Amino acid sequence: QNMGLNEIRSKFLNFFESKGHYAAKSASLVPHNDKSLLLINSGMAPLKNYFAGVEVPPSKRMTTCQKCIRTGDIENVGKTARHGTFFEMLGNFSFGDYFKRESIRWGWEFVTEHLSIPEDRLWVTVYEEDDEAFDIWSKEMNFPTERIVRLGKDDNFWEIGTGPCGPCSEIYFDRGESFGCDNPDCKPGCDCDRYLEFWNHVFTQFDRDEEGNYGQLEHKNIDTGMGLERMACIMQDVDNIFEVDTIRHIISSIEKVANVEYGKDAKTDVSIRIITDHIRAVSFLVADGVLPSNEGRGYVLRRLLRRAARHGKLLGIKENFLYKLVDEVIKVSGEAYPELVEKESYIKKVIKIEEEKFNETIDQGSEILASYIEDLKKNNSKTLSGENAFKLYDTYGFPIDLTKEILEEVGLDLDEEAFNDEMNKQRERARSARGNMEGESWKEDPLSKLDESASSSFEGYNDLSLVGKV
Ligand code: ATP
Ligand code: MG
Ligand code: MG
Ligand code: MG
Repeated sequence: QNMGLNEIRSKFLNFFESKGHYAAKSASLVPHNDKSLLLINSGMAPLKNYFAGVEVPPSKRMTTCQKCIRTGDIENVGKTARHGTFFEMLGNFSFGDYFKRESIRWGWEFVTEHLSIPEDRLWVTVYEEDDEAFDIWSKEMNFPTERIVRLGKDDNFWEIGTGPCGPCSEIYFDRGESFGCDNPDCKPGCDCDRYLEFWNHVFTQFDRDEEGNYGQLEHKNIDTGMGLERMACIMQDVDNIFEVDTIRHIISSIEKVANVEYGKDAKTDVSIRIITDHIRAVSFLVADGVLPSNEGRGYVLRRLLRRAARHGKLLGIKENFLYKLVDEVIKVSGEAYPELVEKESYIKKVIKIEEEKFNETIDQGSEILASYIEDLKKNNSKTLSGENAFKLYDTYGFPIDLTKEILEEVGLDLDEEAFNDEMNKQRERARSARGNMEGESWKEDPLSKLDESASSSFEGYNDLSLVGKV
């Protein structure tokens, strides 16, 4: 049954409304009063205070479609069928109200009756020690035990340090053998794209203390997350999340500006999907007030934008083009997210300025890196020296992650340790230079500013590995 992405979204929200849930609007991508998180990465993230009991929710049952960013998935984008840095997460939440049984039963009802997904294509996973969930699936839902997989803590237990935590149960769709991998033991939990995880149900039932003891939580919570793009991909029987009815339009505009055809060449397709994903992420980030910078959220935005711009170059696009794609992003998502429509010209302007800036940097840096690569090949060497990587970065403003990516593409790598040494040396130099200056004057020194942005951009790069891992 072919069902559009927008239809799935409203079906989901309506379904949970009919089960007594209050449907709230998506929160901003920028966390509100939460220093622990750079960007909202799940439906539950903006509701944390309700779960913690710090704030009273408008209802004990809520449902949302939340815009999310997971930069931790950036390397997967365009390569797996299922990862975007930007995506929408549908969810139903219970704050000390209903628990496991209802969550599973309603999940099953929605998927099999309202989306009419054939039962024999579905698999579920439970946490290995969660017999309760296993029994609800097998005895109450009559789900065949051969298709229930018990997974360990890494996959199916949600916790962050101490505090509320609990087991998960996930629902998967079997896309068939043609999507499989070489692993003879391929089943849900395998990293390939045959079994597509689309809905995670988290049963927050424990409270972990400092010693690692798990006590029962007084008010048990439910937090579920279903990837909207993934569900659309299943419903529409397309290859990956970027080929669904709405997002496919962005691919088409890229085909036009680049004068290439999607689906003809694997490498081209990866670049097209990366641009498709990143322009969505970037448009939403700017709409939520993030501006390009060298640290924090601004750095995430800058990195996504520059990465998209570079993939545009790989496709042979010469002019600034990213800002032009915003029209398509708005056509696709503007109805569900009116902030995009309201800020259309602002979003375009921000993107255009950054794109222009980047083009100047990139042309020069790419040429230099190409000459380094040539030298390496001549000398049969595989590793770019830290010194040269640093020079590119420091003198030419060429982003280090881009250097790394370009090297990887031609089978080379980078002496990261030596690069870090150079970075530290530079920080030392900057520190002592600052120490010698009087009062405020160093702030006006353009070089001191350059150093500040350089060092913070590097920290931003480190930070990225921490984002989106929850
Ligand atoms: P995966 O194992 O495929 O990376 P996950 O276990 O990290 O997914 P969860 O943290 O359980 O994902 O998030 C809940 C749901 O959100 C997933 O079941 C999936 O449908 C969706 N989702 C998660 N990450 C992404 C992503 N990068 N792009 C699109 N959808 C996603
Ligand atoms: Mg993941
Ligand atoms: Mg998973
Ligand atoms: Mg999961």
